[in-house]
Amino acid sequence: MADPSHCIIIGAGIAGLSAARRLKELSIPHIVLDKGRSVGGRMATRRIGKALCDHGAQVISAQGPDMICTVDEWRDSKLVKSWGPIKTRPHRGSDFYYAINGMNSIAKHLARDLDVHTSWQAQSVMFDNDIATIQSQDGESMTARSVLLTPPMPQSLALLDAGNVSLDSEHRTLLETIDYDRCIAVLVTIPGQSNVPPPGGLWLGSEPIQWIADNRKKGLSSQETAITIHAGPEFSDSHWETDFNEVAQTLLNAASKWIGPEHIEVQVHRWRYSQAIQTHPKPFALLESPGLLAFAGDGFRGDQIEGARLSGIAAANALAKHLRS
Ligand SMILES: Cc1cc2nc3c(=O)[nH]c(=O)nc-3n(C[C@H](O)[C@H](O)[C@H](O)COP(=O)(O)OP(=O)(O)OC[C@H]3O[C@@H](n4cnc5c(N)ncnc54)[C@H](O)[C@@H]3O)c2cc1C
Repeated sequence: MADPSHCIIIGAGIAGLSAARRLKELSIPHIVLDKGRSVGGRMATRRIGKALCDHGAQVISAQGPDMICTVDEWRDSKLVKSWGPIKTRPHRGSDFYYAINGMNSIAKHLARDLDVHTSWQAQSVMFDNDIATIQSQDGESMTARSVLLTPPMPQSLALLDAGNVSLDSEHRTLLETIDYDRCIAVLVTIPGQSNVPPPGGLWLGSEPIQWIADNRKKGLSSQETAITIHAGPEFSDSHWETDFNEVAQTLLNAASKWIGPEHIEVQVHRWRYSQAIQTHPKPFALLESPGLLAFAGDGFRGDQIEGARLSGIAAANALAKHLRS
């Protein structure tokens, strides 16, 4: 690229896309890069036959006034509907929503009219004379005056390591404390109806199963019953390397009371970075050396989707101030 864009955002999850929308509002040129085939990151929706399943994030909660306002807009745009009463992780707030066409549709809505490059896997980030160069796995490169990293923190730090960027030890130590649970997800379509009670989300909070959702009762999959099972962190850790068929069978057996014995199609997905369990004390991080470099995502404020969104917006506001000065 001849003219360095003002900001390159790595990651088109909720944090990266929320940051990009804010930069667009502020008229700061930017580009979003994501290694995935589609946008959304952990706000992921998959089609199995005629069924639709959310296999990453399940529930949108709105605790603070900013997110309540955002969710109101999404509800007016027919993106989300109130979902409840359901029980989720104990610390979550009380207003819950589901995405009518799947979590991924919210990311697609945020990505509309933005310059987003999917299937663009960054391999390294380096700085030279305050200009950042991001190199892709396919040998492409892009330059920018600033970079916002939104992948899970170990992946963000690996990009800097690959570009020989060293951070001062105080910042590095804080960033390295961010930690995430692992989660093994099983998606299964079944004949007829499940015994998952209405409105289709069941928080067990135990092992081996933490959560079961019936995407049909939830309102997402109208034609076929599709179930999402999330294993708890202990089971996910101890079965991380276990053969997919074996792990699926164990979880399907454990869920048989709710889903019955018959399975049409079964898929397994492993989330290495599922939900942040140890977070950074600030809403985002911004460094001015070795160049203008910011970090955002759910590793900062916690609070999952809500926190990641607010983290992305806060990082974009801070970057804009620097880019304009
Ligand atoms: C199983 C599961 C259940 C969950 N349940 C809930 C829930 O019910 N409610 C809730 O609020 N939250 C839930 N979460 C958490 C929620 O999904 C996350 O907190 C939120 O989506 C994080 O958004 P993010 O933008 O910070 O990160 P991500 O969504 O992870 O986005 C990061 C993006 O960076 C991209 N990326 C990574 N490396 C590179 C690279 N080298 N080059 C280019 N792109 C790269 C990825 O492809 C990804 O799109 C759940 C998550 C999981 C996995």
